[in-house]
Amino acid sequence: MVVSRWLQPEALVWGGRLVRDVALAIAADGTCDAAAVPPPGATVERLPGKLLLPGLVNAHSHAFQRLLRGRTQAPGAGRAQDDFWTWRETMYRVAEALDPDGLAIASRQSFLEMAHAGITTVGEFHYLHHAPDGRPYEDPLELALRVIAAAREVGLRIHLLRVGYARPGFNAPPETRQRRFYDSHPDLFLAAISALEQRVRADPLVTVGAAPHSVRAVPRSWLEAVARARPSTVHMHVAEQPREVEACLAEHGRRPVEFLHEIGLLDERFTAVHAVHLARQEVSLLGRSSVCACPLTERDLGDGILPADGLAAAGTSLCIGTDGQSEIDPFGELRALEGHLRLQRGRRLALPSTGEGPDALARTLLEIGTHGGARSLGLDVGRLAPRRPADLCAVDLGHPALLGAPDDALLATVVFSGPASAVTDTWVQGERVLRGGRHALDEDSAREFTALCRRTFA
Ligand SMILES: [Zn+2]
Repeated sequence: MVVSRWLQPEALVWGGRLVRDVALAIAADGTCDAAAVPPPGATVERLPGKLLLPGLVNAHSHAFQRLLRGRTQAPGAGRAQDDFWTWRETMYRVAEALDPDGLAIASRQSFLEMAHAGITTVGEFHYLHHAPDGRPYEDPLELALRVIAAAREVGLRIHLLRVGYARPGFNAPPETRQRRFYDSHPDLFLAAISALEQRVRADPLVTVGAAPHSVRAVPRSWLEAVARARPSTVHMHVAEQPREVEACLAEHGRRPVEFLHEIGLLDERFTAVHAVHLARQEVSLLGRSSVCACPLTERDLGDGILPADGLAAAGTSLCIGTDGQSEIDPFGELRALEGHLRLQRGRRLALPSTGEGPDALARTLLEIGTHGGARSLGLDVGRLAPRRPADLCAVDLGHPALLGAPDDALLATVVFSGPASAVTDTWVQGERVLRGGRHALDEDSAREFTALCRRTFA
């Protein structure tokens, strides 16, 4: 392997372990080569006071929902109460209003904030497909391609989860405000995924997966078609709300996870997003699959608390997602995953740690935020190791929030106390995306996004 350059930080997470006094060798093809002492004459970039981590993987995002920030924290007109379903009304208003340029601008701003927060890969759960009147665009893939282009312009790796959406719910007539989401037949949904795969084939940093939206939004026949097609990844919203569980029981006589098990979808390629409202038997049915926790969104929406400890004990692979973008803070997601369990169980150290020492739980959480997301998206990222993609971020140990971090608990300090703003640099496939807390698109994106907010909510 030809090493093109070296990064010399204060410390580095290599193969899951914290190491010091070595540099990371990056090969010409953007993969990691080794963690070692650079030879004389090597090109070395010194990063004093920085901790290099694998890039965070955001396994569940709806990028355009960044537009909702600050606009859903009071009940709508005429309402005394607010919940997931009333929040959704505001989300629909935004989804109805966006044109392709607006979608691209909002998505780019979300992806930019992700790069600033140390995220190097995003799993984008994309459900806005058609023009506002429900008709396909001249290029039916227009909106998916604009979202992908926004991520690539920022420099992120993206796994586009193309959503299939058939109906508002069991026995419910089509809903005008969802007409941008609908496909009329599961074959059209699956054909759109294949077509998208063809269109992005030239870019190795773009991949595509399938996302039947939820048991509410697609009937049994769609899920059976997905199970037969065996896409590389299948993501679904599962058991986010009690009402969804009740509707599934009414339609199928089974709870959501039991029903998906019956269809044959719960294998290594499957990710249940949220999975908050699970019965005990459903926890064990998810043992081969992934569950994507979005605790900051779940907290914002009042969804509930993921039984992450039980899922971990059942063997489920956990990962995180920023979902509704009320915050984009992967360390915040990880500590909320653990923190919500502490509140519920009335004790500390709620998730099982692998290994010993002051960093043990933080290592577990960091694995969830990196390798867990990579597994869910079917990607070979999330770990700095030989021949793995050099997707990484640098954390400034001199940030006010991290000063005085104990040498044997750097990861615990970062994961439990580090703000997203402590991330100063990110690399994707060895390419610099963020440098010293700055991105080349910061100003342009801020200006266009601010104007879009004014337009959308005028
Ligand atoms: Zn979602």
